[in-house]
Amino acid sequence: MERTLILLKPSCVGRGLIGEVTSRLEKKGLVICGMKMIQLDEKILREHYSHLVEKPFFPVLVKGMMATPVIAMCLKGVDAVEVVRLMCGVTNGRKAAPGTIRGDFSMSGSQNIIHASDSPENAEIEIARFFKPEELFDYSPLEIGYIYSPDEV
Ligand code: UDP
Ligand code: MG
Repeated sequence: MERTLILLKPSCVGRGLIGEVTSRLEKKGLVICGMKMIQLDEKILREHYSHLVEKPFFPVLVKGMMATPVIAMCLKGVDAVEVVRLMCGVTNGRKAAPGTIRGDFSMSGSQNIIHASDSPENAEIEIARFFKPEELFDYSPLEIGYIYSPDEV
């Protein structure tokens, strides 16, 4: 099954939305295989957002991402990367569709609640960036037979 990495950003943690957002991901049927609170620093953010370091908004982004600790989560599911990106909505919360996490909880193109990996390849790189192997757990929840048909897993 595919894995993806999400970060609940300071815009989520600082607004008391950790439970609400985590609950949506759980209720969807994604399995949490790793979860922890960490304080990000500039070094890891330069790596994580390497595609954005030259952008004028980068310093603001880094400062915003260090404003509170974040929750890092590894989620597992069939097509987990695509499913979670769809649940997040587009980057700018003002443009994200209602019903998505950003569409329901964000009014910003920067303070947009959640990070989610954008490809299975990047997901594995990002999981390794934020989790040690012993912090990840491979288990099947009891209700897995109600989440998927046998031919889907
Ligand atoms: N971002 C921003 N201004 C922009 C574009 C992006 O502040 O014009 C921030 C925003 O928090 C976004 C993050 O940089 O989530 C990473 O950008 P990316 O293009 O990878 O978007 P995402 O994959 O998060 O939708
Ligand atoms: Mg991205």
